[in-house]
Amino acid sequence: MKHTARVWYDGEMNTRDANHVMIFDTTLRDGEQSPGATLNQAEKLQVARQLALLGVDVIEAGFAIASPGDFDAVRRVAETIEGPVICSLARIKEKDIEAAGKALAPAAKRRIHTFSSSSDIHLKHILRISREENVVRSVEAVKMALAFTDDVEYSAQDTTRSDKEYLVDLYTAVAEAGATTLNVPDTVGYTTPREYYDLIAFLKGRVRVPNIVFSVHCHNDLGLSVANALSAIQAGARQVECSLNGIGERAGNCALEEVVMGLKTRADVFDGAYTTIDSKRIYPACRLAGILMNAPIHRGKPIVGANAFAHESGIHQDGILKERTTYEIMHASDVGIESGTDLVLGKHSGRHAFNDRMKKLGFDFSEAEREAAYHRFIALADKKKFIYDDDLLVIAHDSEEIPGVYRLVSLKVDSTYSENDAAKAAPPKVAVTLSHNGAEQTAEGTGDGPFAAAIAAIDAITRTPAEVLEYSLQAISAGGDAQGEVSIRVAFPGEIRISAKAASTDIVAASVKAYLACINKRLKG
Ligand code: MN
Repeated sequence: MKHTARVWYDGEMNTRDANHVMIFDTTLRDGEQSPGATLNQAEKLQVARQLALLGVDVIEAGFAIASPGDFDAVRRVAETIEGPVICSLARIKEKDIEAAGKALAPAAKRRIHTFSSSSDIHLKHILRISREENVVRSVEAVKMALAFTDDVEYSAQDTTRSDKEYLVDLYTAVAEAGATTLNVPDTVGYTTPREYYDLIAFLKGRVRVPNIVFSVHCHNDLGLSVANALSAIQAGARQVECSLNGIGERAGNCALEEVVMGLKTRADVFDGAYTTIDSKRIYPACRLAGILMNAPIHRGKPIVGANAFAHESGIHQDGILKERTTYEIMHASDVGIESGTDLVLGKHSGRHAFNDRMKKLGFDFSEAEREAAYHRFIALADKKKFIYDDDLLVIAHDSEEIPGVYRLVSLKVDSTYSENDAAKAAPPKVAVTLSHNGAEQTAEGTGDGPFAAAIAAIDAITRTPAEVLEYSLQAISAGGDAQGEVSIRVAFPGEIRISAKAASTDIVAASVKAYLACINKRLKG
């Protein structure tokens, strides 16, 4: 590997710069396919706004043909988000490509990403077509997509288990037909850094069509997605498909923040390859995706985990105090973690400070939404001293003000716990008052714990019982008065599974709100 100085980004977007590695974000498509990560329309737009602020080159906003909801989501991102190219996925089918083209129509810059497969195992069992027929149909699909945009990406699934000579034929044919980005996915997370390097270098050498960008899409089944993507960049790939926190199918995708910081921190070994991501926007974007997609970031997660910049051992702490670079290869502020400045707001922060901070976090509220969010902020500031960014992210998404079917009015918890005296430990009793279309109803329930008792009371009122499948509780921010965020997944009769989350400084209230949110989602369909 050559070692050359980094070519610094000069502020002008120039995608033809041979060193520019495009960041293609698929949080809203592949990421949303992760179990429990489903986003509603408003949430998708919030994530898309954060991606635009980060400066990603392409946003894959969804799979337009998948459902009317997916179509609308792609369309709304196309209508609203400025800056990045907006992309929709489409199989090599006419109706898929038409749906993608229609959904993307409002976007200033749009891309259709059409895909087939290349491995014999996929061609035989999924597509049930011959290699030759696959080439013909892929070429037709690219030509159909060109009717809607001249920016067409082609992918063949499972390239890492495919015949290399066949890949040359297939990719040469689609590139000659007009595809400008050739994505070479490791769909099943099977390859290794060296093998993938060889594959990309081989295809770059053999697919001799000018002005083609080679792209990679890596899955993390063996924990190698980021390593494989970085290796592919060394072999000449100039687009990486990735997602915030690496969220995606199965074990996930390549993590955007890890690729970006890998390239930035080790510019010396990447021959000047660089991205135009604003790394200081990484932290708010990743936190927001974690909260909205029901996938809290684990403490040891590289770049954005709570421990990523914490130093525990005495020797390390001593070194850091003497000279930061003794044990730190990146600075927390490089990824947008500003120590101290996180605790931004409190009870006496005015409307202006609140609006300003929300804007910095990427929210673009209507007047009414801002007013509602501000009132939630004031109510929270009465309960806790410091309001952190993570609290604000939750405030912004608290759906309490949106007309729902049931809303929690009050909770009365009667619970005594005794380690030694079983008689004192009577089953907890909880009285729940809910409002429903303007009328209030109260019921009482008992159970093994206060949440179970509250569920019994709620079920008595709503008559929409659900079984709790998963439950997790996390402190959203620091300190003893932190808000607790509850994520739950429940099952309704007929195998209908719904996830929701809610936060409160009272963990029983947070649990009840999350459970109610599931019921409301169920009732509203
Ligand atoms: Mn994928």
